[in-house]
Amino acid sequence: MNSFTHFGLYPEMIQAISELGFENPTPIQSKTIPHLLSTDQDLIASAQTGTGKTAAFGLPSIHLTNIDDKSTQTLVLCPTRELCVQIAKDLGDYSKYMKGINILAVYGGASIQPQIKSLKKGAQIVIGTPGRTKDLIKRKKLKLNNISRVVLDEADEMLTMGFKEDLEDILATTPQEKQTLLFSATMSKNIISITKKYMSDPLEVSAGKANLGAENVEHIYYMVQAKDRYEVLKRIADINPTIYGIVFCRTRRETKEVANKLMHDGYNADAIHGELSQGQRDEVMGKFRKRQLQILVATDVAARGLDVNDLTHIINYNLPDDPEIYTHRSGRTGRAGKSGVSIAIIHTREIGRLKEIERISGISFSKKLAPNGIDICQTRLYTLIDKIKKVEVDVKQIGPFLPEIYEKLSSLDREELIQHFVSTEFNRYLSYYKNARDINISGKHGDSRRGKRAKGQSATGPFTNFYINVGYISKLNPGRLIGLINESLGSSNAEIGQIDIKKTFSFFEIEKAKEAQLMKGIQGKEFEGRPIVLEISQEKPERRAHSKDRSFNRKRGKRKGSDGGRKRRRRK
Ligand code: AMP
Repeated sequence: MNSFTHFGLYPEMIQAISELGFENPTPIQSKTIPHLLSTDQDLIASAQTGTGKTAAFGLPSIHLTNIDDKSTQTLVLCPTRELCVQIAKDLGDYSKYMKGINILAVYGGASIQPQIKSLKKGAQIVIGTPGRTKDLIKRKKLKLNNISRVVLDEADEMLTMGFKEDLEDILATTPQEKQTLLFSATMSKNIISITKKYMSDPLEVSAGKANLGAENVEHIYYMVQAKDRYEVLKRIADINPTIYGIVFCRTRRETKEVANKLMHDGYNADAIHGELSQGQRDEVMGKFRKRQLQILVATDVAARGLDVNDLTHIINYNLPDDPEIYTHRSGRTGRAGKSGVSIAIIHTREIGRLKEIERISGISFSKKLAPNGIDICQTRLYTLIDKIKKVEVDVKQIGPFLPEIYEKLSSLDREELIQHFVSTEFNRYLSYYKNARDINISGKHGDSRRGKRAKGQSATGPFTNFYINVGYISKLNPGRLIGLINESLGSSNAEIGQIDIKKTFSFFEIEKAKEAQLMKGIQGKEFEGRPIVLEISQEKPERRAHSKDRSFNRKRGKRKGSDGGRKRRRRK
């Protein structure tokens, strides 16, 4: 039996939400629905998008509507047109088996006349943006004298967007005897002052920090130079062929630039930002919802109200200034039991901001290496093979062409045929990534967390310290060193610790589990024409980081070498 039945909601509503897959109420729904169904007490709920808050206020509002009365009984105020439309749609879905209930969304950026016409017909539940709602009240088209409840949804956003006055004006026109419900992801001073002024003895409930899918969201970051942000984004898209995600940028300009570059490079992407007309925004959003677009590049404000489930990735092209915004962004993935990834692309000086987000949001980021060319080519190649295996073959349709095709390909044997097919699709990636450099930045200045690690330990296990016989005189830098390591391992998923590049040699740490594989993989390789010598070093990175080249020479006898006596001569 559906657990919502216990609330005593109409069977028509239970049927509708069952069809939507709602079987058990979310925490905010369990706390809110029985309260709203049984008392008139005001309510303040701390709840972010993704917690199921729309149904938390929507289901009781529908249940309590007097269908025989056509006047407006519930007013929901929310910050954006998109959210308005989304809430109206959700409430419409919940009440689709109930006759006589009219739900209407009123918002700016669209002609007011059809909205006035719909109001005349009678809408028991009106969902509006503050500006348009106020306008309709002033024109005496929206009458609030019979209102039983007012819902302020995303109240913090409405205040941030400058709707404080409009909200106060609207609330002032509502009857004293009504229930006021306030939903907000954050409880700022401004929100508290509103609640004090317009609510009496409210019940406070919280959905907690976590949203419906927060525990399903993996938070990761890539550290690269600022100029490589776009390159990482491309690589993320390339290594995730089925990506369906939002890329958050800070400014309209950046949003446009990133989207244009993606489109130019052949990705299925587009942008939404404040410069688009409402029609253009609707078109882009519609395409994204229908998955005709895989990547949507957006500013935070433009993406408000875009409620899309099943997003696989949230990409923070730039970190937001406010840590709370990071929570809003990442809460858009990992919903309804699905898993999701929230990626932050940062440069070295942003690690502090990442920590601030960790502290405020109670999440933790793990550092990942931006995918390298080999990883990407491998993933794309295997995806292609899977696609070829799974493709439906309509022999009837292609039958007439087959004899000639067989004839044309008759000179190729099975292996050659496979190679040709794969290359047709794959050469684009191969040529782009063939000489791809490693864009990760690391080293002792790169990650301030390293200093806090216990000696010889990484987040995942112990590290091995290596000596390598090339240094900055041979143009070695942390990026190139990581590239060399990845190339030798054939993947980029090894955890690399401290890197210490000296003049003619260097040290680095790598997770112990990869020690043997690296020793083997690097054999026979050269760097800038120099045969590479790699040895396990006994020196601890902390001491080494401050040691001079000379002090290193004194200690080198302690190393376990991998290539016998040749090393001494080469190092001189
Ligand atoms: P909201 O926080 O209202 O934006 O809801 C986030 C998503 O969770 C929406 O897609 C809802 O359809 C879905 N949802 C809400 N309540 C439930 C529930 N009890 N069970 C499963 N999904 C839900």
